[in-house]
Amino acid sequence: MGRVAIAPPRACGRLLRQHRPKATAVVVTGPPAAGKSTAVSRLLAAHDSVLHFKVRVHFQALLAAGHPVAVGIEAQIKARDQLSDATVAWGFDNFIATGAGATHVLVEGYPRNAAQLNDMRAVAEERDVMLGGLVIFDAPDAVLRQRARNRLACFQCDVTADGGVSLTCPRCGGTLTSRPDDSPNQLASRISQFRRTRRQMEEMFRRYGKVVTLNAQRTTDELAADLGRVLACMGGIELRHER
Ligand SMILES: [Zn+2]
Repeated sequence: MGRVAIAPPRACGRLLRQHRPKATAVVVTGPPAAGKSTAVSRLLAAHDSVLHFKVRVHFQALLAAGHPVAVGIEAQIKARDQLSDATVAWGFDNFIATGAGATHVLVEGYPRNAAQLNDMRAVAEERDVMLGGLVIFDAPDAVLRQRARNRLACFQCDVTADGGVSLTCPRCGGTLTSRPDDSPNQLASRISQFRRTRRQMEEMFRRYGKVVTLNAQRTTDELAADLGRVLACMGGIELRHER
């Protein structure tokens, strides 16, 4: 094996400072009704250099635009089937490639396993995006149950709202209904499913980036501010206020 010259620590620091990745990707996760979507929407509304990647939403947008890859798996997208690891990795790469100018990419619902995390790291490296880490929204089960009892959603737009505030979707004007998967039984199984995968996710991410848990019992405003601070820390890039 050949010898490899290793630069002394001070020079390493200088070298690292010379290269700044274009953007930071931060994975956001949490149990149902933890207020994740609301905090993410607030942040997106305030900063146009922050983008949001959600597997299903991106493939639906590609399908609507008639992208041949999405058209080829139209039935799977419409049936909300799980897409293959290779397809999801392609979708993430496509999203990053078309999101020029972004400083932060919030990623939801991806990666779901170690193989997907490897794909994600490969795409990030190729596209000069730093993998910042994992942000977990969490609250005690009783708080999640209480919140889920009160919320309504638009099946079409992926919008969730507090019941009583409005019965109409703010995006499409359609009717908001309670989500079938918020029924007590389904909610309980989704929460325990999250608790099982949480540990795996933390272990996976600790090897590559930071892991931060946000207290989802705080108000929506506080949570959105917390998430903004975490993004700025993980990326070392200030969030631009452009809206
Ligand atoms: Zn809608």
